[in-house]
Amino acid sequence: MAERLLLLIDGEFVASKSAETIPVTNPATQEVLCEVPCASPDELNRAVASAKAAFKIWKEVPTPERARLMLRYQDLLKSHQDDIARVLSKETGKTFADAQGDVWRGIEVVEHACSVPTLMMGETVENVARRVDTYSLVQPLGVCAGITPFNFPAMIPLWMFPMAIACGNTFILKPSEQDPMTPNMLAELFLEAGAPKGVLQVVHGGKDQVNALLTHPDIKAISFVGSVPVAEHVYRTGTQNLKRVQAMAGAKNHMVVMPDADKQQVISNLVGASCGAAGQRCMAISVAVLVGEAASWLPDIKAAMAAVSPGAWDDEAAGYGPQITPQAKQRILNYIATGKKEGATCMLDGSDCTVDGFPDGNWVGPTLFADVTPQMTIYKEEIFGPVLVTTQVDDLDAAIELINANPFGNGTSLFTSSGGAARKFQHEIEVGQVGINLPIPVPLPFFSFTGWKQSFFGDQHAYGKQAVRFYTETKTITARWFDEESATGPNMTIKLK
Ligand code: NAD
Repeated sequence: MAERLLLLIDGEFVASKSAETIPVTNPATQEVLCEVPCASPDELNRAVASAKAAFKIWKEVPTPERARLMLRYQDLLKSHQDDIARVLSKETGKTFADAQGDVWRGIEVVEHACSVPTLMMGETVENVARRVDTYSLVQPLGVCAGITPFNFPAMIPLWMFPMAIACGNTFILKPSEQDPMTPNMLAELFLEAGAPKGVLQVVHGGKDQVNALLTHPDIKAISFVGSVPVAEHVYRTGTQNLKRVQAMAGAKNHMVVMPDADKQQVISNLVGASCGAAGQRCMAISVAVLVGEAASWLPDIKAAMAAVSPGAWDDEAAGYGPQITPQAKQRILNYIATGKKEGATCMLDGSDCTVDGFPDGNWVGPTLFADVTPQMTIYKEEIFGPVLVTTQVDDLDAAIELINANPFGNGTSLFTSSGGAARKFQHEIEVGQVGINLPIPVPLPFFSFTGWKQSFFGDQHAYGKQAVRFYTETKTITARWFDEESATGPNMTIKLK
């Protein structure tokens, strides 16, 4: 019988009393690593009640002390980076280097949270009227909750709870049920760093637990990352229940390749950005738009993709690992079959991929399609696997028009040697994160993660200054102090003198 993962409630890791569990498997072997319990309504209510009680104390802790907790936490995360990455590799199948990167990108957000005293500064205008000053205070909201996807089990929880807690909130994390061991390690280290009881709670489960959080009256704000249909549901239900919601969703990211670009750079970046992490990144490049003569590079792109193969987490030659589940693999194989049926040219087919020693792994090999049109399913839908679709256009205007017509707007990139083309692209493109000669332009945490259109529902994005606005309220104070000089008769108007 596999071990049952614990919940973190009221400062203690506790066994859930729930009879319902979900197995967590190693995607390379199908070995059951643990059973994750689906927290009961009573357990969820206890977590929220504890977070609500802890908020009263935590919001009074001086901001520099909250920052010092984050300083200790980032230090502990750095010293345990490889231990976390090993667990992360086991439950996601990611290569060790990729898993280390997953942890590192989260640590960077914790480093950013250490600047919270500066980030929470308000504004002041002296003398808005005679002897009257207006100033603003930035105050935490209360209990916030975060719901995270499988594909970055370290980075995405770390996008959320460190910023929320540094701002003075308390937090309930509901990690993906597919890889919940990594988030539990993050929580253990947070307690070790000195997080007071109740400031962070971890409740496990699936959609029932999410729905309970979305409707819980004591939760003020919800951060969500996941697929488009679930993001839409979370946004609608959360806002209908009068919560503040930020919901980061799916994507279809295009890389535009101009014929004046550096060909070798294009090819190596395109292969890494489409197949890296088995294509399971919301910022992966899944469409290459080849402009003019760049279409003649397809055979070289194919050769470079064919040279990449998946493998086990500790195989240093492996380009990437397995898909997260057999169902995820099957979904990708269905897309490959649909692409062929709808008339795209499959130049490289990863459907029958095998890896020596791992007959049960969820392997999909690199897959390349040419002659893809915007009407085809493989162009329209997020495949979330190592499948690159390519399309050809005559000029940059046509490439921009194609991308702007796409409902997603998470990331895009342009490879060119022309400053003019780059300037035009960055100005006209309707996508929230743009790379110029960079394939995956994920901003560092002092900026925000700014997906647009169907890739994001809400208005304040994850991390950076926007996260501080998301997790706080602004209170604006207008004040005057009386002295003999200012004494006047009755004030009958609202006009301040
Ligand atoms: P998912 O939507 O299946 O799951 C995300 C979370 O929602 C999980 O915690 C899950 O338990 C919960 N959930 C699942 N179904 C639900 C339902 N019906 N009702 C309520 N809650 C539900 O996503 P995933 O497969 O874990 O992650 C991959 C997706 O996340 C991709 O679409 C990817 O593009 C997206 N993603 C987006 C970003 C971004 O920043 N835009 C980042 C990472 C991943």
